[in-house]
Amino acid sequence: MGERDNLTIDNLMKLLKERDPHQEEFHQAVQEVMQWVVPFAADSSRYNSFTLFEKLTEPERIIQFRVPWLTDKGEERCNRGFRIQFNSAIGPYKGGLRFHPTVNLSILKFLGFEQTFKNSLTGLPLGGGKGGSDFNPRGRSEAEIMRFCQSFMNELFRHIGPDTDIPAGDAGVGTREIGFLFGHYKRLTAQFNGVITGKSPAFGGSLLRPEATGFGLLYFTKHMMKQAGKEVDDARILISGSGNVAQYACMKAIETGAKVLTMSDSDGYIFVKDGLSREQLNTVMDIKNNRRGRIRECTEEFECDFHEGTPWEVEADIALPCATQNEIDKKAAKSLIGNDVVCVAEGANMPCTSDAVAAFHDAGVLFAPGKASNAGGVSVSGLEMTQNAQRLSWDKETVDQELHDIMDRIHDECVEYGREDKHVNYEKGAAIAGFIKVADAMLAQGAV
Ligand code: NDP
Repeated sequence: MGERDNLTIDNLMKLLKERDPHQEEFHQAVQEVMQWVVPFAADSSRYNSFTLFEKLTEPERIIQFRVPWLTDKGEERCNRGFRIQFNSAIGPYKGGLRFHPTVNLSILKFLGFEQTFKNSLTGLPLGGGKGGSDFNPRGRSEAEIMRFCQSFMNELFRHIGPDTDIPAGDAGVGTREIGFLFGHYKRLTAQFNGVITGKSPAFGGSLLRPEATGFGLLYFTKHMMKQAGKEVDDARILISGSGNVAQYACMKAIETGAKVLTMSDSDGYIFVKDGLSREQLNTVMDIKNNRRGRIRECTEEFECDFHEGTPWEVEADIALPCATQNEIDKKAAKSLIGNDVVCVAEGANMPCTSDAVAAFHDAGVLFAPGKASNAGGVSVSGLEMTQNAQRLSWDKETVDQELHDIMDRIHDECVEYGREDKHVNYEKGAAIAGFIKVADAMLAQGAV
């Protein structure tokens, strides 16, 4: 065996950094998962293969294309579009589309890689994919958004299908954008099928899909707290973001009886001393979803303070980062730990830096990685695919029960593979449990 073939995390990371030296987010995502998986695999005769890991970290296909579109003034614009078809070992590619100016190959490869493990954890037959564009929807009119979505689909439609690759929403892509994308797919292909999830229930969307990621996050957090002999019921919670995931995490937390002290956007955060009420959350949702405004506007609507920066210096029991990648760094983690935070569960994808996660582990703070705690969204997307294939639509109670069952199962798997002495290492458990199913399928399908 040459040195290159020796399965170690250092050899794997060396290869990835040599291949794509500037893809820092992708390297971070691989390091965070593989630091647990590689020692596990190297110890087993079945998975001890460098090539298996080379394949797991190389997308099956990357599609990159230009997206030309016209502003309302008739000016030409051109953005970049991507679809990363990362891994189809256990099912067709599945993962969201993100429209945000920071989108690039590194970000989408990190998200596609994470998605592969997350989808495996759900227990549903879904491979991993991700896509999007560096298009900035902020401040764009509805007509501009529609023209952009249609141009994006002009290229994407030839690469997707209900049995090959099923996109969904992500940051910057909500029900409105999914409607425009689906409408144009239908026009281009003359087919009405389950090619995209996150649709409006009026044309095949699953009930509870908008709620699923945030609700699932709370179901998972409850399990974590219970495992540690604690309750969510009257806990003080910090939420970052005020988009889809944050809104429904907040809604379920309020329903549970917890106090949500903060919500944020990229300008800063609001602080509500006694916790947001359901009426105040409705106002946040109206500002964000209908008026497409900023979180600071809440100060004109109800009693709260607005602060620039992130909410992590506020004293609380639970932190649910639901905005974006790397929003909790080591300094923020130290501040949370200093304030005796008990539990951190990721609603966003990779919102904690590696240093922050290490600090949580050292301090004995319960920590759940997004691939486990935010898997509710893709799970209900998987259920939407099932409903579309059956030409049926399930009621809310049925979907919620399935969501509960899936989050319970993911928690059980994290405990099974992540148990260490007295506590559970959810990062390790999620990484190993997600890996086993994908690796078994890849090995069974042969050297292709
Ligand atoms: P949205 O676009 O609905 O909301 C994103 C929120 O995060 C907005 O409030 C946005 O504020 C804020 N935000 C974005 N960038 C920053 C930043 N740099 N600093 C502070 N706040 C920021 O996205 P979603 O809620 O759908 O997604 C949020 C995260 O959750 C993403 O990481 C996504 O990948 C992940 N996720 C989403 C799922 C889903 O079902 N939607 C499923 C699983 C994971 P602003 O308006 O200022 O940009």
